[in-house]
Amino acid sequence: MVEVMTAAPARDAARAVSLDEFVDEARRWLDAHAEPRQDSTGHEPWGDGEFSVAVFHSLSTDQERALLDRLRRWTQTKATRGYHAITAPPDEGGLGLPGAFARAFGKLEQSFVTPTSHETHSVTTRLIAPTIRIFGDHQQREQHVADFLAARSLCCQLFSEPGAGSDLATLACRAVRDGDGWIVNGQKVWSSGAQFSQWGQLIARTDPSLPKHRGLTAFVIPMDLPGVEVRPIKQMSGGSSFNEVFFTDVRVPDSMRLGPENEGWKVALTTLGFERDHSEGSGGGRVGGSWRQLLATARAMGVTDRPVLRQELARSYTHHRIEGFVNRRAADLRRAGAQPGPEGSLGKLLWTQGMTQMSDVISQVLGAALVTDTDQWGTYAWGEHVLGAPGYRIAGGSDEVQRNIIGERVLGLPAEPRLDKDLAWNDIPR
Ligand SMILES: Cc1cc2nc3c(=O)[nH]c(=O)nc-3n(C[C@H](O)[C@H](O)[C@H](O)COP(=O)(O)OP(=O)(O)OC[C@H]3O[C@@H](n4cnc5c(N)ncnc54)[C@H](O)[C@@H]3O)c2cc1C
Repeated sequence: MVEVMTAAPARDAARAVSLDEFVDEARRWLDAHAEPRQDSTGHEPWGDGEFSVAVFHSLSTDQERALLDRLRRWTQTKATRGYHAITAPPDEGGLGLPGAFARAFGKLEQSFVTPTSHETHSVTTRLIAPTIRIFGDHQQREQHVADFLAARSLCCQLFSEPGAGSDLATLACRAVRDGDGWIVNGQKVWSSGAQFSQWGQLIARTDPSLPKHRGLTAFVIPMDLPGVEVRPIKQMSGGSSFNEVFFTDVRVPDSMRLGPENEGWKVALTTLGFERDHSEGSGGGRVGGSWRQLLATARAMGVTDRPVLRQELARSYTHHRIEGFVNRRAADLRRAGAQPGPEGSLGKLLWTQGMTQMSDVISQVLGAALVTDTDQWGTYAWGEHVLGAPGYRIAGGSDEVQRNIIGERVLGLPAEPRLDKDLAWNDIPR
């Protein structure tokens, strides 16, 4: 029996609940609030309804906003019972229950029709909310954590710049002290979902005389501050997931600073740690095609008796299971109280490798139907997985960067030469 520390918003008394009781109650709640999606065979249903394996959305701004709104409404519906943040403490709107309860709910939820995921929603609820929980002062935690967990407001990551991606610590966006606040000038790029976000987590340089990893400060700022300009970037796929964000003499009160002055690198690393963490129920986004969708497509195309394809499918399944075990291990570490660390890079690599492998297998399963719209349900849509998957080999730190982290911080191999590490940022040649 687990003691629920206090009530979810809809409950009003602390009580003990077993996992079985929790699952029964959650099933009843889901039955009452969503449509079941699984057929009686336990296979992925085929030929009916929405089929999405998209990694990114190739939608117009209005369509993408509508998708996000549907997802946010679902999160807020779950928030009426604390099911949106099962492991979060009750004062943040959660249930304060162990990860096993969150995993059980996630599994149950997969059997129901729920809105398609969206990166900005995950960034807000799974990356930035827990970062503020760690670094925010009382007022910031009160203001943002519950709000972001329930996706009542959205928050984007304002980290990368045209000259700072893998080497994020070289970033140049400046925040200069001005009385009780800061004046921000500079540019960010690849800011996913900035056009839909009310808030942004900004990393800016506050002391250029310090080495690059020091002298950075984090802020959580409203995206409608005067001087903030968001310019969507048009992608070749048709959508505009990313933006450039320009700051011109933006006045930011010091109360929006997240964590101590010049210690923004720790804040950034924490958010990136949540981004790379693929332990179950973590920040790792579940986008693109699933193993079940892959198998269902192979069955529908009648190719599961082909020896070579059977091997490929088995390879994909094996990868899927190994990834699951690694993620379970990471989840155990989380449960034992560890914050996401460098081992998260392993989970992220496995995830992007799995998506790439799935692209290879589905290309063989579908052949020309992948690139020619034959009107056959659940086929041409896979193009959105194949074209989108490479993006996540870059986002949140590229595969190469993850390998560097694993080599240096997990395996203890010699570090890459870093000649600018101790130089003042001002003195780094560029
Ligand atoms: C889908 C997607 C979503 C994103 N969303 C956001 C967002 O919301 N907010 C945000 O701030 N940013 C976002 N980004 C930007 C992302 O963080 C950067 O693209 C990423 O950090 C890589 O930086 P870069 O593009 O400048 O590439 P670079 O750093 O210029 O790298 C170029 C190439 O060099 C390799 N390389 C670089 N350094 C090393 C090294 N030390 N060792 C070995 N190889 C190396 C890289 O692996 C890569 O192949 C997003 C990117 C993508 C693709």
